[in-house]
Amino acid sequence: MVRPRHKRVTVEPVASLQESDVEKVVLCSPRGFCAGVEMAIKALAWMVRAFEPPVYCYHEIVHNKLVVDRFIDRGVIFVDDISDVPQGSPVMLSAHGSAPEVVAAAKERGSYVVDAVCPLVTKVHHEVKVRAGKGYQIVYIGHDGHEEAVGTMAVAPESIHRVQSVEEVNALPDFDQPTALLAQTTLSHREWDSVAEAARERYPDLFTPSRSDLCFATTNRQSALMGVAERCDAFVVIGSANSSNTNALAQLANEAGCPQVYRVNGPDELPKDLSGVVGVTAGASAPEDVVQNVISFLSPTLGVEEVTITEEDEYFPPPRSLRELLTAVDVVATLGLGGPVSARVPLQDRKVGASDVLTTL
Ligand code: SF4
Repeated sequence: MVRPRHKRVTVEPVASLQESDVEKVVLCSPRGFCAGVEMAIKALAWMVRAFEPPVYCYHEIVHNKLVVDRFIDRGVIFVDDISDVPQGSPVMLSAHGSAPEVVAAAKERGSYVVDAVCPLVTKVHHEVKVRAGKGYQIVYIGHDGHEEAVGTMAVAPESIHRVQSVEEVNALPDFDQPTALLAQTTLSHREWDSVAEAARERYPDLFTPSRSDLCFATTNRQSALMGVAERCDAFVVIGSANSSNTNALAQLANEAGCPQVYRVNGPDELPKDLSGVVGVTAGASAPEDVVQNVISFLSPTLGVEEVTITEEDEYFPPPRSLRELLTAVDVVATLGLGGPVSARVPLQDRKVGASDVLTTL
């Protein structure tokens, strides 16, 4: 078992809140942007830089209001219907994954299409396609109406059955075909465990992938929260109301018995009377600068203790179509500056954080 690392960190208090009743902030790590969100935000930022506005984006690039507002300020237009993208416009598809017909329609309409789907969601799409192709009926644990679930189910709508509770599993028909169990990546283990158990009882020969569909980022953020929730008088979960993994974190803090749990977009949504030990974490689409602003707002008198349960070093490179574009832009820029192509600066995407990209956008 990995032993958590504890570290004291310094955050400047907000001047007007020096007399805080918050003694200590216990800060979870990992928190905030995951590799998939990093990739998607940086990809859209590259699009914004490479094309004249407007760049279109199908669905919110990630489920975070502040991130989306930042891109809207830079002329990005978010649409929920791909037919709202004018013919010939550059278009990006969000990290949650899109239905195959949406991808096809985007390619028909867009002058340049970049699909920023997280590779972990692509893995589930692939599994749905393969299992459906082999004649399986698929029990899919996912949230009703969530964009990832909608996109995944559209891969094989005739073979997939979405469930969210034990009761829904028990209400499924008997299948003559073999049955597989797949899931939305951002479920909590608690959402998964009981429903998966019910599905295994219902269909004893149930196929499940060797690698869990539940993504590392969701699991790590939940484990970090569970490691500290018991000793917190209140918990602040930073992220938007439509972020599935943010809501799962808030739910876990509640279930851990934390007396007060607040899901907030930013510090302005926090109550002014928090006191004692306050836990802080952030969903996978919440920027780090908001975390720092929340801590400054809380102004803990005894400082911040950061508890790290694991290091995350996953990195997802930009979507291939964007890599080709960036290389082309880089070559043109180098030639424009009179330098040989071989001397061009290599693309440094990995070294640039999405939080930094957002603040300099
Ligand atoms: S939470 Fe997981 S599945 Fe979702 S974008 Fe991040 S890494 Fe991908």
